[in-house]
Amino acid sequence: MDTQLLINGEFVAGTETPEPILDPRSGAVILDLPEASAEQIDAAARGAAEAFAGWSRTTPAERSAALLRIADRIEAEAEAFGRLESLNCGKPVNAAIGDEIPAVVDCFRFFAGAVRSMHGPVAGEYLAGHTSMIRRDPVGVVASIAPWNYPLMMMAWKLAPAIGGGNTVVFKPSEQTPLTALKLARILAEELPAGVVNVVTGRGETVGNTLIHHDAVDMISLTGDVATGKKMLQAASKSVKRTHLELGGKAPVIVFDDADLDEVVASLRAFGYYNAGQDCTAACRVYAADKAYERLVADLTAAVESIAYARADDTENEIGPLISLRQRDRVASFVERARELPHVEVTTGGATHGTSGFYYRPTVVAGARQEDEIVQREVFGPVVSITRFSDVDQAVTWANDSSYGLASSVWTRDVGRAMATAARLRYGCTWINTHFMLVNEMPHGGLKQSGYGKDMSIYALEDYTAVRHVMVRH
Ligand code: NAD
Repeated sequence: MDTQLLINGEFVAGTETPEPILDPRSGAVILDLPEASAEQIDAAARGAAEAFAGWSRTTPAERSAALLRIADRIEAEAEAFGRLESLNCGKPVNAAIGDEIPAVVDCFRFFAGAVRSMHGPVAGEYLAGHTSMIRRDPVGVVASIAPWNYPLMMMAWKLAPAIGGGNTVVFKPSEQTPLTALKLARILAEELPAGVVNVVTGRGETVGNTLIHHDAVDMISLTGDVATGKKMLQAASKSVKRTHLELGGKAPVIVFDDADLDEVVASLRAFGYYNAGQDCTAACRVYAADKAYERLVADLTAAVESIAYARADDTENEIGPLISLRQRDRVASFVERARELPHVEVTTGGATHGTSGFYYRPTVVAGARQEDEIVQREVFGPVVSITRFSDVDQAVTWANDSSYGLASSVWTRDVGRAMATAARLRYGCTWINTHFMLVNEMPHGGLKQSGYGKDMSIYALEDYTAVRHVMVRH
């Protein structure tokens, strides 16, 4: 297993406090990983700054070729990457290998194409006797900080547009899930010049905090919690660093009475609980029309009871445990507080599972009201709430009544109603008669406190490059 940090082309062991890396299926320690010291973080940031001079001057074709090589190398080791991710996160091995690794590979391949085909406004004589043109150039050194829910995929989303755009990066994975990042570091060291990507591990308050305050860092990119995003903004304000923030979500799912309820139930069963609900786009906040409500609660409850988890043969599992004991207890406490409300019924789940590992049973919370904590706050676990609505204005008002604004969905057979409702939703993405589907060609990112950075798509490449004007006097 790879355990060394990548600093300016060299592999070195972290020298500070070891962090236990746990197997969420059992709670056992996989290994203890010493975190990076302040000197090591400094060397990584300086290495990235030195590498920027050369890397930022490479052609799009050269950077594209590097991204394609990285994609091929990950694909060649897909099973090993998937198994390692599965071990560290508790994800079902089939989902890690079959869903996530192909998406990671495709992300590098998409940006390999995108960097060669960026376009923009036309050059011209906007002032007589002068020609103006627009350039898009890299920002500089990016401090890139990732969460634990999709470790390698978040790394791909952050690295591919950043290095594709000509930036250099110091990447910090979550202290809970660093293993695939350290494995990918071996490939990055072979396929990229020294310093273009550096990987340092450790906790947010130590390693992350030192990194985001480093004076060689020009841009901070975070996928994480809203509270962490605010810390990024405070750090960025000291030296006016750029920020790219992808924060949490609490996706509303509006189910009209003409929706295909069998489809809705099958989709909620899949997309409300995928990755044990540890997903910022999870279909977790359902609003059901009066006429659909009773059947939806009954059918979803029955469907959720059939979700496979915690089986000895992991290839049978559809979802895994939560990432940590802390996360499991947090999820449990949300459900306990909801259960105390007289109007709420926990129709299935609502308890931890087993004596080892961090399992929580897939849960349906029926009868939740708009003002309830379970409707308002991000749970980040296998818990879906259902709230009854009486008309479209009420559904849209409630759906928008959230500090989050990442993803949403609308379910109806009436295309006019679908489009009219989608237009009123204040979310970075609205799916119609589906949920959760992402493609590398389309942007992923939020509104409101879900942040404003776009991942995937040409918009990510725009976020990681700066618009410049060059004017020539004739
Ligand atoms: P987190 O904010 O606790 O941690 C994210 C990263 O930030 C970790 O690497 C952590 O070490 C680091 N960090 C924490 N405090 C820091 C500090 N003071 N300085 C520098 N770095 C610091 O989030 P998490 O618990 O790992 O992940 C779950 C959260 O991420 C959820 O809220 C989820 O919604 C969000 N998320 C959002 C998206 C998205 O695309 N919008 C995707 C995945 C996860």
